Amino acid sequence: MLNQSLKFPKADILVIDDTPENLNLLSAMLTEQGYKVRSVTKGSTGLRGANAVPPDLILLDVNMPEMNGYEVCQNLKANDRTREIPVIFISALGDVLDKIKAFAVGGVDYITKPFQLEEVLARIENHLTIRQLQQQLQAQNQQLQQEIHDRTKAEEKFAKVFRSSPNPIAIATVSEARFLDVNPSFLRISSYCLEEVIGHTATELDLGKNTIAFAQKIQLLPETGSLYNQEFEFSTKSGEVKIILISIELIDLAGVPCALLIANDITERKRLENEFISLVSHELRTPLTSTMGALDLLGAGQLGTLNQQGQKVLSIATTNTERLMRLVNDILDLERMKSGNIFMRQAKCNVAELLITATEAMQAMADKLQVQLIINPLTIEIWADPDRLIQTLTNLLSNAIKFSEPGDRVWIGAITSEYKTVESLENQDSDTKEMGASNYVLITIQDEGRGIPEDKLQIIFERFQQVDASDSRNKGGTGLGLAICRNIVQQHDGKIWVQSLLGEGSTFYILLPLTR
Ligand code: ADP
Repeated sequence: MLNQSLKFPKADILVIDDTPENLNLLSAMLTEQGYKVRSVTKGSTGLRGANAVPPDLILLDVNMPEMNGYEVCQNLKANDRTREIPVIFISALGDVLDKIKAFAVGGVDYITKPFQLEEVLARIENHLTIRQLQQQLQAQNQQLQQEIHDRTKAEEKFAKVFRSSPNPIAIATVSEARFLDVNPSFLRISSYCLEEVIGHTATELDLGKNTIAFAQKIQLLPETGSLYNQEFEFSTKSGEVKIILISIELIDLAGVPCALLIANDITERKRLENEFISLVSHELRTPLTSTMGALDLLGAGQLGTLNQQGQKVLSIATTNTERLMRLVNDILDLERMKSGNIFMRQAKCNVAELLITATEAMQAMADKLQVQLIINPLTIEIWADPDRLIQTLTNLLSNAIKFSEPGDRVWIGAITSEYKTVESLENQDSDTKEMGASNYVLITIQDEGRGIPEDKLQIIFERFQQVDASDSRNKGGTGLGLAICRNIVQQHDGKIWVQSLLGEGSTFYILLPLTR
């Protein structure tokens, strides 16, 4: 037991007392209790010892020659290395003033001689425990300070990134899609000030045409997960329209689910892209027209008769040139529509006639691919541009036919529809709900072809978007047809959307208002 306590003493105690009997008595008692004891008879020796190896506690006699206990204590408290060591005074003086002085110079306790050993032990243990707890507290405090420091630094770093990011960044609540914070880039692009944005929704600020669909995307974030590079038309405070790409990430802010929105202004890029496409298309049209003319001449045999191999090559060249011509025309068409350079020649027209004309135009293609066209015409008049609507219907019919198998059927029909009926259609474009409660004509083109995957149902209405990259090669498409259709339908204040089941077929819907 003794050996054990010598190996691992409970604590290191320094006893400073000029009376050897006292020293021996205390030293023997404390050693027996498992403490490591250092005993000195002079204050100055005690100070040196304490400074060299600071003990856990000091028992200090008050009355000593040369340097008395109070002075020793003052010296200990003046030194950083020894300041925190608890000092218990031991003295024969029992005067209250002496005790007060002992505490005044930094002592933690005072024992009067002759002392009771148990009392000395109890006080030592008390103060060692207090000291140990103090040290633990100090260590924890230091650790906390460090953590606070680290955290503040990290927060400062992120706040700096948030503030100085060239990309507009916003944080919104998932529940209501209300802005909690936005960075200076966001304010710059929107021309709003912080107070005008915080606490509001994109719809309240009228930040674009599709703010309701946008808010729904945020609210559905916990189910859908992050969204990347979604194109969005963004209206600034002054009404200027910008094209931005938005990525949305779900984050947790103090237990509140929030959406972190990072935007990228691609207005200029889009403008240049459009300008480039339309420039190239214009430049391509003239040589293409003359190539077509030359191929026609060759085909008509006016420049001599071609052998079988020549005819085959000519046919390939004609097919590809026609495809290129279609692409160029579609691009220019779309560009003109987007820039508002196409005037819709609206007139009273009969829906039945439109459906019949479009079907007749596509009959040859349907026959060639052995697809049956079934028409359910509806005699009702609408105010529309007949040529543009026929263009839309033939485009949808052409898609329905080319993505079907021989023997499949394609239906085209129309019904008048109340707003409520439209609303109850599943999976419809959410914007349809904004159209108000009036009467519509709903045109449907349904096929039993290959169908469209769910994640492509919206995107195929964008330019150059095809479900399969090989579609343009194999099916002769341009990836622009649906973008043109959507544009035409929108210019009629209508909506277009699609429902589809992979492998079972697709139904395209066009909803047009009856009265305008
Ligand atoms: P394309 O000229 O390629 O037909 P569209 O814009 O008309 O261009 O259509 C875009 C893409 O949408 C098509 O390439 C095809 O992948 C898909 N698609 C359109 N209509 C149908 C349909 N009825 N069935 C299956 N996929 C379709």
